Amino acid sequence: MRVLAFLDGTFADPDQAHIRVDDLGLIRGDGIFETILVTNGVPRELDAHLDRFARSAAKLDMAEPDRAAWERVIQQVIEAWPPEEELALKIVLTRGVEGDPEEKPTAFAYGMSIPESTKRARRDGIAVVTLNRGFEADLMERAPWLLLGAKTLSYSVNMSAQREARRRGAEDVIFTSTEGYVLEGPTSNVVLARGKTLYTPPPTNGILPGTTQGDVFRAAERAGWKTEVTQLKADELTEGDALMLASSVRKLTRVHTLDGTALPDSSVAIHAELAEAYDAQYA
Ligand code: PLP
Repeated sequence: MRVLAFLDGTFADPDQAHIRVDDLGLIRGDGIFETILVTNGVPRELDAHLDRFARSAAKLDMAEPDRAAWERVIQQVIEAWPPEEELALKIVLTRGVEGDPEEKPTAFAYGMSIPESTKRARRDGIAVVTLNRGFEADLMERAPWLLLGAKTLSYSVNMSAQREARRRGAEDVIFTSTEGYVLEGPTSNVVLARGKTLYTPPPTNGILPGTTQGDVFRAAERAGWKTEVTQLKADELTEGDALMLASSVRKLTRVHTLDGTALPDSSVAIHAELAEAYDAQYA
């Protein structure tokens, strides 16, 4: 099932074409997006998503998104969806049509069912490989024009990395910097459990500050865990008690194998405890 609505509140048929071939989002990947998980009619971490959307727009020198209008259209899509069914809700804002003197952005919200592969990953965990992203962990500050830390529509490299993972017999990727620091996944943040502490790398590494990682950390703290945002070396990833990837639609996913090495079974119980603490907030 799918539901499409433009920012002005007009619903449209998702099986019909609506985007012009000269839209800069299409021909240059010049725009931004967010993907929000909706369960029991509630969009998870909506404020954090809309805050990040606004920060991404600012990094791309786009006008500030009209927050009230986005909140309205998100609610419209949710209300058009069966309340008991989960959905992934994507909001997309592009720089609009090339050469348009009015520079009118293209803006829509799009609800989709959760794919079976996502449900399987949530349940069974995934195999992951580490891949070099090819830059140093401090590049974001030195080169803001690279838009590191913005959630842009230019995801070809991220999708290419996931294909490389599949070629290597895995399902997903953890990117590392040239110095060997842990960065993020192509669509997720890294969470490492060691003892009773959860670790994740800092957004200053040029990675997206994750809404799910933030939410998981808050839920874990309430359940008695400590949390730390800190640099991690790639070789530390196999030394913890559980390695997980956090992202809105796949939620907290257990990594059962890293670079071909099976990770300890202790991760099953730790992942179950954290996933439950996270989900309990939305029950
Ligand atoms: N990092 C990247 C590059 C992403 O694309 C995403 C989400 O798609 C994340 C991290 C995780 O962010 P969130 O938990 O807000 O979905």
